[in-house]
Amino acid sequence: MADIVLDKVTKAFPDGTLAVQELNLEIADGEFVILVGPSGCGKSTTLNMIAGLEDITSGELRIDGQRVNDKAPRDRDIAMVFQSYALYPNMTVRENMAFPLKLAKLSREEIDRKVDEAAKVLELTALLDRKPANLSGGQRQRVAMGRAIVRSPKAFLMDEPLSNLDAKLRVQMRTVVSRLQKRLGTTTVYVTHDQTEAMTLGDRVVIMRAGAVQQVGEPQELYDHPINLFVAGFIGSPSMNFFPASVSSGRLTTPLGEFPLGEQMRGEISSGELIVGIRPEHFEDASLIEDSIRERGAEFSATADLVESMGSDKYVYFTVEGEKASAAELEELAADVGSGDLPSGGSNLVCRFSADSRVKEGDPAQIWVNLEKIHLFDPSNGRNIT
Ligand code: ATP
Repeated sequence: MADIVLDKVTKAFPDGTLAVQELNLEIADGEFVILVGPSGCGKSTTLNMIAGLEDITSGELRIDGQRVNDKAPRDRDIAMVFQSYALYPNMTVRENMAFPLKLAKLSREEIDRKVDEAAKVLELTALLDRKPANLSGGQRQRVAMGRAIVRSPKAFLMDEPLSNLDAKLRVQMRTVVSRLQKRLGTTTVYVTHDQTEAMTLGDRVVIMRAGAVQQVGEPQELYDHPINLFVAGFIGSPSMNFFPASVSSGRLTTPLGEFPLGEQMRGEISSGELIVGIRPEHFEDASLIEDSIRERGAEFSATADLVESMGSDKYVYFTVEGEKASAAELEELAADVGSGDLPSGGSNLVCRFSADSRVKEGDPAQIWVNLEKIHLFDPSNGRNIT
């Protein structure tokens, strides 16, 4: 097992593409760290540099305290699991899993013992004599994991290992990966562009954008305290709602209405233009709010464009007067994050109401917003100032 340290690691490809810029990251021994971010942000390049599959242009990579910039991949003692499984089609499951051990010239008995052990952990024992073609996608991915764990490497590197699986299997395999990592306690770096995977799998999540780290933290911390507009919009589904706002005399003016700023915010924010961000679950059908918490928020009315019942709750879409926030930073953000959460037709607000809500499409609704949970961003640099 090992800790992994990236110290100002930079990757410039020969064509001039700066894929990773001065990335600093310390991954503790045994930690499960997720790299997440939109396509092209440098996740795979970072992982490939740790694996030794890509040269490091500048900076230092240390594994277990040792500089490994110039070490060949096979000498780094780490195992990689890819999206494509990369199994040998003409070998059985047992032979596939035994392959790295054969290369390492272990004895026949030792190979059998390690393969049997890994097969047991991954529930592959009954499938050991099958060829990959006769396995399901999930089973193939378990074999790929098995091949990685038999070697007891210092670290696992996983690049979107579940993205070829259908949605249901992906959820099941998430549990397999999570349990496996906990059981083995092996340092793991896992790349995904799926924020649900990022939020559910790792001890810590590294959010990347355009070759740079935006924020590193525990999933809940990133969700509750996003450092900037990008992180706020990237984490959470449906995405946080953003609107232009202005502050004067301790009051916040937004397209949703005019609200008093909380005590603690009043001290920090004097006046000026802002972007307000509110997560869908921080709205509620006002008729369902108990009096004891009503005063933590404010109310406004709007007409529901669309109601989507999710069983446990309802996504209700509204059009409120005024634009969605249109600061340059937010437009850029929308390009990266995608604005897939809002249906076409002009809705600019999505609320997550409890299933008891009786709001119907076309009906005017009274909406309660929890003012203790709102985020305010500086439009000039996207920083969260709450
Ligand atoms: P995805 O989620 O789409 O896999 P990613 O975050 O893993 O994306 P990378 O594959 O690390 O992103 O790529 C980072 C950037 O480096 C991108 O702009 C990509 O086009 C560029 N890039 C990757 N490989 C090369 C290469 N061999 N030569 C030039 N540019 C490259």
